[in-house]
Amino acid sequence: MFPGLSDQLRIRNEKGLKRKRLILESPQETHVSIAGHEYLAFCSNDYLGLANHPELIHSACEGAHQYGVGSGASHLINGHTAAHHELEQALARFVGFPKALLFSTGYMANIGIMTALLGRQDAVFADKLNHASLNDAALLCGAKFFRYRHLDLVQLEQRLATSRARRKLVVTDAVFSMDGDIAPVSKLTALCEKYQAMLLLDDAHGFGVLGKQGKGILFSLDHGYLHTPNIIYMATLGKSAGVFGAFVAAQTNVIETLIQYARSYIYTTATPALLAHTLQKSLMLIELETWRREKLQQHIALLKQALQSLRWQLLPSQTPIQPLIVTENDIAVWLSDALRKKGILVPAIRPPTVPQGLARLRISLSASHSKEDIDRLTTALWELSRYS
Ligand code: PMP
Repeated sequence: MFPGLSDQLRIRNEKGLKRKRLILESPQETHVSIAGHEYLAFCSNDYLGLANHPELIHSACEGAHQYGVGSGASHLINGHTAAHHELEQALARFVGFPKALLFSTGYMANIGIMTALLGRQDAVFADKLNHASLNDAALLCGAKFFRYRHLDLVQLEQRLATSRARRKLVVTDAVFSMDGDIAPVSKLTALCEKYQAMLLLDDAHGFGVLGKQGKGILFSLDHGYLHTPNIIYMATLGKSAGVFGAFVAAQTNVIETLIQYARSYIYTTATPALLAHTLQKSLMLIELETWRREKLQQHIALLKQALQSLRWQLLPSQTPIQPLIVTENDIAVWLSDALRKKGILVPAIRPPTVPQGLARLRISLSASHSKEDIDRLTTALWELSRYS
């Protein structure tokens, strides 16, 4: 046994920071079963409510019959099936890029992009609130790593202007995973153009949700579709798309470089073809079932209105990520526990995941929630606000 492990775990526990897993006994839905009890859940990233969709379950079975369950090899050996290939083409068309490449997860995609494209002579410029996978990727690739204050484009420009790096990559969450706010993509692309940088957009939380047809951040801007060859677009397929995986869309030579050099693409088994088969169906549902995004917007409006004068305030997010800021860590934990006793699951998020003094409940909304579900949550929060 390594020395110090028990102490490390004990200290984490004493600080109230020990993480525990919930054990679900039901599909990922708005109502889940845990230890024989049913809970109304506001935790998942299944924003469109597709994770347990009967048509996707049917497609998964169909895919299993056609391709079996295991892919058996990496993409560059012989794990790359027609299902993967067709999905890549469909994804590229969907988000308006020449080429797309599937990765097993968003984490691996971010690691792959940065390690394949950047090295010691290069520089990464990253928003302070970016997802951990982007930060880990920046550290791993060995480039100089600058983190600018959240959305502070003045600081970003100062850094870009003084950089002598060979390649410059600006990196941002499109929808920030803990605050739910949206990156100023048009301004970022303009800055990138001015300083010959590329922009990596991580649209994990925008794909499926933003834009009329769910095509993500680049289709949601006031002046229509935004496109420049300097964008590398990454989105995940285990959130709104309801399945699993991730993809990168970009110019052909960027994608070809990833196929040749991204180690998290090359040295891993391809995801089962049945998932790629299922995701084709998922793309159709995302595009055609616009009512799911409309319903999400109704839920967001309802939640905001119902909690308007509560003592704790929602951040001004227009996405399904609705953080209720309670500031103190112990209030966040107490509130989350008290809601759970009422049969409602909402995770408490504390530092270091969010800045000190900004502990919160992270309420995630889904198109599968009903108006009654939102009412139940807001009523419970009002009741608890009178006790604390
Ligand atoms: N980027 C962002 C912004 C995320 O929120 C996540 C997942 N929480 C990821 C990347 C990683 O994606 P995956 O879960 O597919 O590894």
